[in-house]
Amino acid sequence: ARTESSLMVRYCADFEAQYTRRITIITALKEALVTGSELSLVYQPKLHMSSLSITHVEALLRWNSVSLGFVPPDEFIAVAEQSGLIKDVTHWVINRAISDVQAMKQQGVNVCVAINLAASDILNDDLLPMIIDKSMQAGLTNENLAFEITESDLVADHQLAIQQLSRYREAGYSLAIDDFGTGYSSMAYLKNLPVTDLKIDKSFVLKLANNESDQQIVQTIIGLAHSFGLQVIAEGVEDKASLALLNHWKCEYAQGYFISRPAPLNEIIVWIQKYKD
Ligand code: C2E
Ligand code: CA
Ligand code: CA
Ligand code: CA
Repeated sequence: ARTESSLMVRYCADFEAQYTRRITIITALKEALVTGSELSLVYQPKLHMSSLSITHVEALLRWNSVSLGFVPPDEFIAVAEQSGLIKDVTHWVINRAISDVQAMKQQGVNVCVAINLAASDILNDDLLPMIIDKSMQAGLTNENLAFEITESDLVADHQLAIQQLSRYREAGYSLAIDDFGTGYSSMAYLKNLPVTDLKIDKSFVLKLANNESDQQIVQTIIGLAHSFGLQVIAEGVEDKASLALLNHWKCEYAQGYFISRPAPLNEIIVWIQKYKD
């Protein structure tokens, strides 16, 4: 009985610590969204393998909090999703991404920026009109923005997801299924989704060159995607041998530290300009 009660005390202490951390994050993130100064976007290129060109990048959110230090996106995005703050986070990301694309274009770098959306963003009817409106004002085309949605988020209400995603496609935006392979989607499910790209989760790619079962999985996913007319992006490419395998299997895009880490706007502009010559 004694161990049981001490376990209970431990459990409660852990629970309380987690709860406190969540509340602290919510409070600090609200503040950060108002001032904006602690938030930034970094960009990671996607290498188009057959042309060896950089036409696409992904926007990734960074939060350097004065009170909490660096908070990993996986942590604060999850808290934002649970607390309803994600709507404001996504607004911030979209506004910043649009003005960054504008800045890139002014410096002769015309790329497509992919923005990560949460499930609740897809269900929010106001978001797409806002995106179209803001990007028109900034002089962007629908080829300057694309969206990534995590596989597991799409499974919950399949019919509604299809309907909402179709609106993005009608507006001319490319859509990628993110983290593919980690969820439970079937082939029938994939066939009906109005998406253009499929992103293979980095857990299958990180050790690709040394792991035969990962090689089987990745090859199968690429074949499956191509049979549905989807382009494939492999994330988490960390070495040359993995890049060579992906190229051999006709994977369209590769993304990962071997090509470039995510970098701030000014660095990524210079990186892409240098890459072009
Ligand atoms: P994700 O969309 O699957 O993004 C890929 C993650 O892998 C990023 O982590 C990226 O920095 C990291 N990564 C890229 N290349 C490599 C590599 O070669 N090796 C390894 N080990 N990692 C690599 P990050 O930036 O920490 O973001 C984590 C997750 O947070 C993202 O996963 C995404 O789900 C979420 N996230 C980030 N920014 C946003 C955002 O603006 N909005 C939303 N809704 N979610 C975001
Ligand atoms: Ca992503
Ligand atoms: Ca991923
Ligand atoms: Ca993810």
